[in-house]
Amino acid sequence: ASMRKSRIKRTKTVCTYCGVGCSFEVWTKGRKILKIEPQVEAPVNGISTCVKGKWGWDFVNSEERLTKPLIRKGDKFVEASWEEALTFISNKLNELKGKYGPDSIGFIASSKCTNEENYIFQKFARSVIRTNNVDNCSRYCQSPASMALMRTVGYSGDSGTIQDIASAGLVIVVGANPAESHPVLTTRVKRAHKLFGQKLAVVDLRKNELAQKANLHLHPKPGSDLVWISAITKYIIDQGWEAKEFLEARVNGYDEFVQSLQKYTLDYAEKVTGLSKEDMIKLATMIHEADGTCILWAMGVTQHVGGTDTSTAICNLLLVTGNFGRPGAGAYPLRGHNNVQGACDFGTMPAWYPGYQPVQDAKARARFEEAWGVPLPKDPGFNNHQMVEGIFEGKIKAMYLFGEDMAVIDSNINHVDSAFEKLELFVVQDIFFSKTAHFADVVLPASPSLEKDGTFVNTERRIQRLYKVFEPLGESKPDWMIIRDLANKMGANWNYTHPGEIMAEAASLSPMFAGVSYERLEGWNSQIWPVQPDGKDTPLLFTERFPFPDGKARLIKVDWTPPMFEPTQEFDLHLNNGRLLEHFHEGNMTYKAKGITHKVPNPWLEVSPELAEERDIRNGALVRLSSPYGEVEVRVLVTDRVKGNELYLTMNTSKDKKSVNRLTSSYHDKLTHTPNYKEMGVKMDILERE
Ligand code: SF4
Repeated sequence: ASMRKSRIKRTKTVCTYCGVGCSFEVWTKGRKILKIEPQVEAPVNGISTCVKGKWGWDFVNSEERLTKPLIRKGDKFVEASWEEALTFISNKLNELKGKYGPDSIGFIASSKCTNEENYIFQKFARSVIRTNNVDNCSRYCQSPASMALMRTVGYSGDSGTIQDIASAGLVIVVGANPAESHPVLTTRVKRAHKLFGQKLAVVDLRKNELAQKANLHLHPKPGSDLVWISAITKYIIDQGWEAKEFLEARVNGYDEFVQSLQKYTLDYAEKVTGLSKEDMIKLATMIHEADGTCILWAMGVTQHVGGTDTSTAICNLLLVTGNFGRPGAGAYPLRGHNNVQGACDFGTMPAWYPGYQPVQDAKARARFEEAWGVPLPKDPGFNNHQMVEGIFEGKIKAMYLFGEDMAVIDSNINHVDSAFEKLELFVVQDIFFSKTAHFADVVLPASPSLEKDGTFVNTERRIQRLYKVFEPLGESKPDWMIIRDLANKMGANWNYTHPGEIMAEAASLSPMFAGVSYERLEGWNSQIWPVQPDGKDTPLLFTERFPFPDGKARLIKVDWTPPMFEPTQEFDLHLNNGRLLEHFHEGNMTYKAKGITHKVPNPWLEVSPELAEERDIRNGALVRLSSPYGEVEVRVLVTDRVKGNELYLTMNTSKDKKSVNRLTSSYHDKLTHTPNYKEMGVKMDILERE
């Protein structure tokens, strides 16, 4: 028995499914996963996980894994050696760079990949190709929240830790469904609410699980959040409840800000949002009476034409009420992917080097030029959206995409697909032959997190180490190795042999990560940025100053942009969408977990009892939804979680006829170009009534 036991390996990893950042041990024998065992030492989750972390790993050994590079020959893909594939890509990139210039090439990184991989990817784009056209998928989700935080409080991250949320007097959740999207974080909130009397308010179109438990659930009209947030901010000021000393000592722009709120009276807000004045006063009073308020928000706020402004209104409200820089208070944009925070932190963004150093800042640029030994481009590059539009405009000729199924997850995918067809070179690096891979010229086989060393940053800015559980399957390789080898093929001289060396370089170039090192991150240890050179980290931000030259936060005036969708006679229903507990994103990984897929094999459409009665349909009815951009077919679940003419489509699928992004438009947030996934009008045709 001891022989047998000795062949069992236990390796610590960090979950690859959401931004909560649970860590646990993976017990393996050969390539078989015996179990997932969380340990008390895990800083975020202790002994908890959710269903995805516990059962969602079959995909790693799936027969569908890519194990060899593929090169397109006509309509077919043929297997190639790494040497052939990298030579092909390198020649083609050199040719296109020579012909059209470096800015004709675009790079999209992955928030499923490690910090080290994101770092090396942006280094490749900037120092080998010499373009700032590099972005990641936060463009599809939390870029508006990041921008709002940068312009008000100066750091784009959660104000405190998940533990801290549990110590707040009041938690407000806006436009998010954390019980399904961030399950282990939500158990902390549920416990604090149930056992310690923490107050809970949920503002959402849908009566989701947390809304059912909340002291107050408000259901505003779609896309009207900025209005009620500004109205309760004004009401709080009118009552004299603002945090006077805090505002005086630590915040700029108060008087102009108060002026800008004039039109946001409760009467106006009642008209626009459909919320009653009483309910808005109730929420304002809850904030006033609470010992610390945390506001959690996600895609229901950000994926709108005014996503950045609404996120800014949240920060303004927290500033006016003094809810920054103290425990149990602050702003918590909930990060979706496991490493969406880290992908941004480590520089896969068109305007920022690692550690949020602007590419336009001459001093920052000089630092990277010196370290990398080449001159770097001065202007910000294209973001994801601009790259796709750039293809149509003839500006982008080649794209390199890793770990992202853009042909499923971008909005208005019929439009995006037709862009990919125009590229002269399209490289897709992934663990599966994704839908996007069908458009590629070269497909490179990468490794998933269990086959990698590296680090992730979770939603609370916590950097954690993951260790390699398995060797890469077949000829697949970790993403950092692929990029290193390609860079060397193109004349760089990168001799990284381990991700720890990449982190050491990133830390030496970014004051924000100065004291981050693999020695300090050993085992269950973690560090929450910013990290001082001596390794001291920062679980709670803004205790003494905000990271602006004068140390003060800024109130920013914002105005409401009405949503793009108003019901018409043809497109008469509002369609919302979001995640399921059991599945992740387009489902490329979770649909390969047998237990999970057995339980939840398909997406569904939630229809209110009123609408079901009006249209004479029942549970299981098959309907076709159409928007001006495309159509999907899906079965119906009748539930009072939704109301009236508002529908809710679970978004986790890449099955072509069911994918929500057949319906979404190309409209986007004005400031960050995040698609307005949540503003959609559709019509519903009934194919089967039950
Ligand atoms: Fe993984 Fe998130 Fe579930 Fe934790 S809560 S186990 S990080 S999916």
